[in-house]
Amino acid sequence: MDQIETFDVVVVGGGPSGATAAQELAAKGRSVLLLDRAGRVKPCGGAVPPRLIKDYAVPDEQIVARATSARMVSPAGKNVDIPIEGGYVGMVDRDRFDEFLRERAAKAGAVRRTGVFERIERDTDGTAVIHYRLREGHRLGEGTPARVRARTIIGADGANSSVARQAVPGADRGKFVFAYHEIVAVPEQRPAGYDAGRCDVWYQGKLSPDFYGWVFPHGETLSIGTGSADKGFSLRAATGELREKVGLQNARTLRREGAPLPMKPLPRWDNGRDVVLAGDAAGVVAPASGEGIYYAMVCGTFAADAVHQLLETGDARVLARARKRFMREHGRVFWVLGVMQWFWYSSDKRRERFVDICRDRDVQQLTFESYMNKKLVRKKPIAHVRIFFKDVAHLLGLVRV
Ligand SMILES: Cc1cc2nc3c(=O)[nH]c(=O)nc-3n(C[C@H](O)[C@H](O)[C@H](O)COP(=O)(O)OP(=O)(O)OC[C@H]3O[C@@H](n4cnc5c(N)ncnc54)[C@H](O)[C@@H]3O)c2cc1C
Repeated sequence: MDQIETFDVVVVGGGPSGATAAQELAAKGRSVLLLDRAGRVKPCGGAVPPRLIKDYAVPDEQIVARATSARMVSPAGKNVDIPIEGGYVGMVDRDRFDEFLRERAAKAGAVRRTGVFERIERDTDGTAVIHYRLREGHRLGEGTPARVRARTIIGADGANSSVARQAVPGADRGKFVFAYHEIVAVPEQRPAGYDAGRCDVWYQGKLSPDFYGWVFPHGETLSIGTGSADKGFSLRAATGELREKVGLQNARTLRREGAPLPMKPLPRWDNGRDVVLAGDAAGVVAPASGEGIYYAMVCGTFAADAVHQLLETGDARVLARARKRFMREHGRVFWVLGVMQWFWYSSDKRRERFVDICRDRDVQQLTFESYMNKKLVRKKPIAHVRIFFKDVAHLLGLVRV
């Protein structure tokens, strides 16, 4: 085969997971190509926890709003307002945030290229050759054909990952919720009850039969949306209904967009040879909450570490460590959230009870401390016991709502 460029790592996808992996590997002195198709802002509510902002040194100017309370709305329209004591939920705009991360990777030494990944082939010596379309085309089949050799590959190309489908067995076994939102300009005349420092989460079967609807403040704009795994459910109509409920039906709509949200980590993230997945491509979004940005970045870090070790040792078994590490740190939380979604989001009767449970101060503190710090908090073991018994009482219907 003729001489073509060779990189230690080709990272496919420049979202939070890919850009993080590219930055960390470039900072370790690896030659990195960060390949992103660009041309589309990732549809996303943009809510991020303080832990992400701290661990990944996100500068203040990226945080367009800080929500200091959350409102949960029950099917009967009862509100539970939860102050986020000593913390906040940060909001990022994905067009600026992703670009900031990609630029940071480039500053660390990664080569950035705009192109669409197409396929992996093998060189005569077995090295992966990545075929992609350069620049002008944003869709498969458009743009100038190009290729590079890659000692290793990180597939961070999102929920419909082509890298995963081509290289990793079991990648077709993903479970998804489809999420849709509208970006709306905050009107000069604020509707009644509007609060720029509050995230609203709507638990009503009409707005989502199996997930939730949201209104997230982003300074000058808002993200209003909903999600569902039910393909027959009209997310657009439900979002319209939610906009009416919050008095924003006539606010200017800036964008309408949707994307699948993976709801279960894939059984394998690597091909046992030279490919490892990260972020949505690996199926890593927290069930029940749909939070994916923080977990994508953590995956990016773990994938980068695994690839670095493979390049050091030549032992491809180290790639499996990325998933193992992730499941050790976050598997339990994902499991708990999965059960929560399956049980509490299944009927309006249960949703009513769920919102009612959230009136409890212990539940509120535990939920937000866990969200902000990404640890199941053990500071107050007695609170866990109380929550457990209250939960059981609710499950058995012993508590009147
Ligand atoms: C409507 C909606 C709302 C959400 N709200 C939140 C929220 O409020 N908070 C939160 O934490 N999470 C939220 N999420 C989830 C979050 O957006 C994702 O989990 C997160 O973006 C995953 O990051 P990633 O880097 O793995 O993938 P992505 O962000 O999807 O990035 C993948 C990248 O790969 C590139 N790419 C794809 N295919 C190719 C190809 N063939 N060639 C080259 N490049 C390619 C894309 O251009 C993109 O830049 C939401 C998701 C949706 C759909």
